Amino acid sequence: MDITLSKSRIEEAAREAYSNAASLTGGANADYIPFLANIDPKLFGLSVMLPDGTAFNFGDTGYKFGIESISKVPTAILAMRQHSPAGVLQKIGADATGLPFNSIFAILLENDHPSTPLVNAGAISACSMIDPKGDSDAKWKAITDNITDLCGSAPELIDELYKSESATNFNNRAITWLLKNYDRIYDDPDMSLDLYTRQCSLGVTSAQLAAMAATIAAGGVNPLTGRQVFSREIAPKITTLIATVGFYQHTGDWLYTSGIPAKSGVGGGVLGVLPGVLGIAAFAPPLDSAGNSVKAQAAVKYFMQSLGLGVMNGDRVSITG
Ligand code: GLU
Repeated sequence: MDITLSKSRIEEAAREAYSNAASLTGGANADYIPFLANIDPKLFGLSVMLPDGTAFNFGDTGYKFGIESISKVPTAILAMRQHSPAGVLQKIGADATGLPFNSIFAILLENDHPSTPLVNAGAISACSMIDPKGDSDAKWKAITDNITDLCGSAPELIDELYKSESATNFNNRAITWLLKNYDRIYDDPDMSLDLYTRQCSLGVTSAQLAAMAATIAAGGVNPLTGRQVFSREIAPKITTLIATVGFYQHTGDWLYTSGIPAKSGVGGGVLGVLPGVLGIAAFAPPLDSAGNSVKAQAAVKYFMQSLGLGVMNGDRVSITG
């Protein structure tokens, strides 16, 4: 079926999605990272960006929150830019674990395979893959420059979050050394873990994440800068990873009910990609039991349903001025 949507209809759906989700009260801030426990739980923002750069922003869309697991998306893209999608498949894999994001059990089950760059194990492995090897500063620059290119503006390290996370990341230290044991860390293990922890501690706004999502939806062309950030072949690969594991053990339920591949983070962010159509991002700190933002999920689902959109629908969507 052909669906034609006007920009004003999309804006109206986003406004309604925001105001409907704003009154929800469930969930709780992540508290295993002390800094996150203290973020104002009432913050809530929703941002949509179209491939031509048109943006719709509602609520706290300029607030810089911890990107957390959503950082796994840009670094997976960077690993593909540097080593090709086939290289990432061979060194990390593209399988959903069906288990929580920080599962050690998942590594033991697939000991030859961290499984996907979008869970902690594969993300630490992806950080180890980033060139130039052995040079922490240069690797960090590559990681943050890539995020800047995808967002069209720079992220900002939240130093307090980085310290809070570094002081408490014992589970991730265990993951890193277990991966090393299985030859799935491709640089210094401590450096790889530190880069992962630092990238999770970057502050971004929902408006920036919507631009990142729209860049993926537009096949690698950033709508704000017009720059081809990554080659077109990477877009369906990263969207596949997002679709298969973006909500960890609830990814199937999420895709089934929302119709949009999306990646969540324990900072309360959600980034959704509707290929060829738009990017969407939402942020609200209180999380459900799987670590996904309650309000952000509700807003994105409402938006998709109210426009009749779905990545599996097979519709051709055009947007008019
Ligand atoms: N930095 C967090 C961790 O490694 C990210 C988890 C997430 O957002 O899912 O535990």
